[in-house]
Amino acid sequence: PKRHIRARIFLPHLVASMEEVEQTYIMIKPDGVQRGLVGEIISRFERKGFKLTGLKLFQCPKELAEEHYKDLQSKPFFPKLIDYITSGPVVCMGWEGVGVVASARKLIGATNPLNAEPGTIRGDLAVQTGRNVVHGSDSPDNGKREIGLWFKEGELCAWTAVQEPWLVE
Ligand code: ADP
Repeated sequence: PKRHIRARIFLPHLVASMEEVEQTYIMIKPDGVQRGLVGEIISRFERKGFKLTGLKLFQCPKELAEEHYKDLQSKPFFPKLIDYITSGPVVCMGWEGVGVVASARKLIGATNPLNAEPGTIRGDLAVQTGRNVVHGSDSPDNGKREIGLWFKEGELCAWTAVQEPWLVE
């Protein structure tokens, strides 16, 4: 909410659309980092027009991976998933924008890269569900929850991008 108040002060002409501004948590998984895809993946969100609000390279502890994926606890692949996510550094990102949650899921593509359309991150850069290079929150509520989980207060930046009036009318 604080971030929205600031945006109102700096960009009064954007007030109408501020309601649709969302936050999502995007994470480049260890395979994406190992394969040198960090720049490529960040570029896709930047070029689309979203705004980076948090960014760090991070070795995820097991407890955090388990909390992040707690809804999948009962799945047979859960232990493998936790091993995968904690197997090397990940890149944690907060992204902000109008409709960013659903839009980022489209840019990322289907969970199984076999079903992901060409042009999506997983469609272009991955071959298997267990190595699908990137995570994106599946709802605005989970976006907020996951950003709160992976970032500490001082690690996020609220800022105004000069391109905003050229992206949102
Ligand atoms: P998404 O990441 O597309 O939101 P899910 O929430 O269903 O997909 O699953 C979370 C993550 O768990 C997937 O991105 C993938 O890394 C892993 N996963 C899901 N299903 C499987 C599976 N059948 N085998 C191995 N890993 C899986």
